[in-house]
Amino acid sequence: MKEQVLNKSAAASPLGDGTTRRIALFGSTGSIGRQALEVIAGNSSMFSVEVLTAYSNDELLIEQSLRFNPNIIVIGDEKKYQKVKEALSSTDIKIFAGEKALEEVASMDCYDLMLAAIVGYAGLRPVLRAIGNGKSVALANKETLVVAGDIIMRKAVENRVPVIPVDSEHSAIFQCLVGEMRNKIEKIILTASGGPFLGRKPNYLVNVKREHALQHPNWNMGAKITIDSATLMNKGLEMIEARWLFNLNPDQIQVVIHPQSIIHSMVQFEDGSIKAQMGLPDMKLPIQYALAFPRRIPNTFPRYDFKKYNTLTFEEPDLRTFRNLGLAMDALNKGGNLPAVMNAANEIAVYAFLRNRVNFLDMTDVIEKTMQKVSFIQTPTLEEYFESDGMARNYAADLIKL
Ligand code: NDP
Ligand code: MG
Repeated sequence: MKEQVLNKSAAASPLGDGTTRRIALFGSTGSIGRQALEVIAGNSSMFSVEVLTAYSNDELLIEQSLRFNPNIIVIGDEKKYQKVKEALSSTDIKIFAGEKALEEVASMDCYDLMLAAIVGYAGLRPVLRAIGNGKSVALANKETLVVAGDIIMRKAVENRVPVIPVDSEHSAIFQCLVGEMRNKIEKIILTASGGPFLGRKPNYLVNVKREHALQHPNWNMGAKITIDSATLMNKGLEMIEARWLFNLNPDQIQVVIHPQSIIHSMVQFEDGSIKAQMGLPDMKLPIQYALAFPRRIPNTFPRYDFKKYNTLTFEEPDLRTFRNLGLAMDALNKGGNLPAVMNAANEIAVYAFLRNRVNFLDMTDVIEKTMQKVSFIQTPTLEEYFESDGMARNYAADLIKL
């Protein structure tokens, strides 16, 4: 049965036999989702939009539906269902609402590849369903692997489902590994821009406000990941994401600050040779690579010019100031349910910071206290990951008095 599904998706590949790859875009109204639709619009003979999902942005979901004519859409917020239904009444698009519907649609057979671009823990269950359903996953939603990476990757292997990274660093590593499958990785070097507060110290960070933290120097992204980039939690999440994607030990994963964001990450092999993937910072490139994998397809995105930007610099991350990265390294090393607990506390802390309920440095305290409080489980079941997430959320919300 699974074989048949895999063969069917291979046959539906755009990149060979002229048929289109049917994309289920989970989180279509977000930053990744919107850029993915630009890529799809530019390559309409290769990709078709089968599924679109949003949570609250009904207007954009309606607009996208009218433009891309998907088979199915889901609006997460059930209160918006009626409005979406009325706006699309002249079409034959099937419309569902609510969290359960996200899982149900992920279990359907009408698509070939899910682009997982929901933000946070909410993206986990649809990804689990897609993998269980034998569908390829292009994964932007890193929190999925942070929470339950061992289970996700095990299920992907069991179901012979490719998990293709969209996160630019992981896409870089994935690209560096093409043709190297028999060669052992000595280590990977994840690059980090350092975010808007690179070089700043705690006495500065204590006064940082939401608007300032939302200004990323190199990337234009959704609010949650932009704050994670400012605290360096994003790089911590990415270390854990890399551990599972590439089956590495924690000590094989190094972070280096590279403020220009031109080298997107590197792999060092056993002979000391280092491969890097480079380019201007533009998420459309890793999105396109994941959608079209294993092919590269042409585009007209701006190119990197060595004459124009000719200085690339590297430095150590400042773990004393950006303590979230240190907490994530602890979670990576100890494993078990600790990354899930940390992720949940971080989601609550970022939510509170975005609503001006806690200051920038308080976010770290909330995460640290929650990591100390929730009981450690060395080898959690999926149910225990869910429970750990719930406990951590409640504890962190109590600390902040949300
Ligand atoms: P955004 O906040 O821009 O978009 C998030 C998407 O998820 C929106 O479509 C949103 O719907 C939907 N969503 C939010 N909450 C829920 C929920 N509870 N249930 C269902 N859907 C929900 O995020 P980004 O696009 O920036 O990021 C998406 C993922 O990709 C994240 O995991 C992020 O870490 C990762 N990523 C993002 C990068 C970037 O450049 N943006 C780079 C690398 C990774 P709505 O807007 O309708 O409410
Ligand atoms: Mg990244």
